[in-house]
Amino acid sequence: MTPSFSRARVDIDLDAIRHNLTLLGARAPGAEVMAVVKADAYGHGALPVARAAVEAGAGWLGTCSLGEALALREAGITTRLFSWLDTPDVDFAPGIEAGVDLAASSVGELRRIAAATPVGTRARVHLKIDTGLSRNGCPPAQWAELVESAAAEPRVEVVAIWSHLACADEPDHPATDLQAKRFAEAYDAARAAGLDPKRHLANSAALLTRPDLHFDIVRPGIAMYGLNPVPQAEDLRPAMTFRSTVALVKRIEAGESVSYGHTWTASRDTNLALVPAGYADGVPRSLSGRMDVWLGGQRRPVAGRVCMDQLVVDCGDFEPSVGDEVVLFGAGGNGEPTAREWADKLGTIDYEVVTSMYRPRVRRRYL
Ligand code: PLP
Repeated sequence: MTPSFSRARVDIDLDAIRHNLTLLGARAPGAEVMAVVKADAYGHGALPVARAAVEAGAGWLGTCSLGEALALREAGITTRLFSWLDTPDVDFAPGIEAGVDLAASSVGELRRIAAATPVGTRARVHLKIDTGLSRNGCPPAQWAELVESAAAEPRVEVVAIWSHLACADEPDHPATDLQAKRFAEAYDAARAAGLDPKRHLANSAALLTRPDLHFDIVRPGIAMYGLNPVPQAEDLRPAMTFRSTVALVKRIEAGESVSYGHTWTASRDTNLALVPAGYADGVPRSLSGRMDVWLGGQRRPVAGRVCMDQLVVDCGDFEPSVGDEVVLFGAGGNGEPTAREWADKLGTIDYEVVTSMYRPRVRRRYL
């Protein structure tokens, strides 16, 4: 049987995604846009977001794994795809045949890609230089060997060189300039090896604050979903709203306690609304006692512990009705809680909040 749609769901505003991407594209007029749709588009749904991004002008889609890229290709996405991180056991051949651009951080990776390239084709490769994030990417000391090997490899076409920034969301952080300097040196070395690659470096934060680092392609993720990684005011619109519905209403008397452990006791007679969304639906139990929901036109506190499947809202003298809509987090324009507010309370970032909504029990609706 189909699960109830109103139990717990996320609504994704694809217009907001198109709006954000158009705005971001206008901020980087000389660059192509690679919309980052990894991790199921940060929990928003890879295929609908990919389609919306292409409609809004993205010339590229970026995924982490080759599997994510191939799923988009198989669903009919013909836009350029770039996937950048896989384990050594991955078979690159289907990706190369499907025209997916691949990343190489070492001569070993380059050779594996070359070896997987079907006869008569050339793999499209973006060479990654580690400019200071110290995750994947080729260490600068080995870069000359990588670009020379790539230039000498007939089964590979070097499309671009690229890197990723560590501290772009802190615009004054000196690490960004150091990374930019190393990136420039890596480009010079690639040219000296006879390559003529494109360059890409900027995530959302660098797109918004460092026009000098836009180069040929920008790679926005979080800002496309309407969440701003930098303090500058931008007209971004959050695309995700997490909703549920009042399932039961009851009145309790002062002195009665609510939910496991009786951590909350009514100080007055009050109306309670039962909301069928709990930690199995993505409402963190650690927000118990310190979260509000939006119900009946205002914020109202959650009473007691968040349970696996449900939570209880203290409504005071307000009388909600069964079926009333409850917003767990949303765009915030009316005063409802936001993903950023959850992240601040949880000691994390809004990236993690929205990406955690990638769960089978929570249904998605596209607006
Ligand atoms: N490029 C790469 C390689 C990434 O891993 C990510 C996300 O982490 C992005 C771009 C997009 O970053 P952001 O979401 O901060 O714009």
